[in-house]
Amino acid sequence: MGRSLILIIGTLFSLLTLSPIIIEAQFVGYPTIDVAPKGEAKWTSLVDLTKAPKVAIRTLGVCDPNDQFCTWSCNKCAKPEDFLKCPTINDWALTYDDGPSPFTPVILDHLKAKDLKATFFVTGSRVMSNPDILKRIAKEGHQIAIHTWSHTPLTTQTSEVIIAELKWTEQIIKEVVGITPVWYRPPQGDFDDRTRFITKSLGYKTAIWDLDTFDWKSNLDPTFDLNWITGNFTEWVKDKSSGHMSLEHDLYEKTANMAPKAIDIVVAAGFNIKTVASCNNLSPYLETNTTGTTTGTTTGTTTPKSNQYGTNSPSSSSTNTLSSPSNKSSFATKNNNNFFVGIICAIIFSTIFF
Ligand SMILES: [Zn+2]
Repeated sequence: MGRSLILIIGTLFSLLTLSPIIIEAQFVGYPTIDVAPKGEAKWTSLVDLTKAPKVAIRTLGVCDPNDQFCTWSCNKCAKPEDFLKCPTINDWALTYDDGPSPFTPVILDHLKAKDLKATFFVTGSRVMSNPDILKRIAKEGHQIAIHTWSHTPLTTQTSEVIIAELKWTEQIIKEVVGITPVWYRPPQGDFDDRTRFITKSLGYKTAIWDLDTFDWKSNLDPTFDLNWITGNFTEWVKDKSSGHMSLEHDLYEKTANMAPKAIDIVVAAGFNIKTVASCNNLSPYLETNTTGTTTGTTTGTTTPKSNQYGTNSPSSSSTNTLSSPSNKSSFATKNNNNFFVGIICAIIFSTIFF
C-alpha cells in the first residue's frame, strides 16, 4: 500500500514537472527569441533574389546621401505601394507595435469598452512569450500584422535573413491564432527597394504611419514627458485634410497606459477608427474565411492550436533602440531545464523506492 502511494505520488510529481515540456513542445523548432534567425532555404526559394535591386547591406546608422533605393528610414522616401496613412478623410487607424506584452490588455480593455478595432504589429519573439495575449487580440477582432521575428532593422540584414524574419513570424502567428497576416511593418520604419522587392514577392503589404508618438523613448529617456503623447494627439486630430495612421507601442507599461487617453482624444474628435486593412478596404489575412475589409474582425472557422504558456516579461531593450537586446529568457534553455529536472525526479523516485 505504502509503495503504491509513493509510486502514484512520484508519477504525478514527475508528470507535473514534465508537463511544461509537453505543452511547450508545440513551439519546438523556432529560432531563439530576439535574435535575427538564419536564412531558411525553403523560404529563400520563394523569392527570386537574382531580380532583387542590388542594394548594399546598410550599416546601422549610416545613410547614403545619394540614396538611389528609396530608403524610408534615411530620408522618408515612400513609393505608391507603401501605406502611410488611411486614404479617406476622417478615417483613423490606431496601431500598436512590438507586442504582444503583458501590458497589451490595458489597450484591449479600452478598445473593447469603446467597441473599437485597432491593428497590432507583433514580433514573433513576443508572440512566443505571450501567445495567450495574441489569442485575445484575435478573438476580439483586431487586426494582427507582422513586425518581424527579432525587431532587427531590415536594411542591415541579408535578404535571406529578412525572409526568415518575416516567415517565422508569419508561422508562429498562424500556429497560435490560425491566420496568415498579409500586412507587415518594418521595425524602425527601416525599408528600401530591396526589402520592398522581397516583401512584395512574399505577398506582404507594407504599412508605415503618418503620425509618430515616439512613445518608445519614454522607456529610455527619463526626461520624456508622457503627456507629450496626448499633447500630440490633441494637435493631430485638428488635421482633417486626410486620414491618419498613428503609431504607439504596447510593449511597455508606461506607453500602454497612455493609449486609452489617446484613443479618447481621437474618438472625441469624431474620427472613424478602423484597422489598417479596413481603412484601405483590403483584406487583413490570406485566409478567405476571414473578414476584415470593413470591420477588421476575424470570423474564420480555423481552429487555432492551444498553447498554454505562462506570460514572460517583455524584453526591455528590444524596441527601437540600436543596442542589442538583453535580459531575455531563452525558450530553448527553459525547455532544457524542465526536461532535465523531470528526468532527475524520475530517476530519484525509481532509485529510492523500487
Ligand atoms: Zn517596432
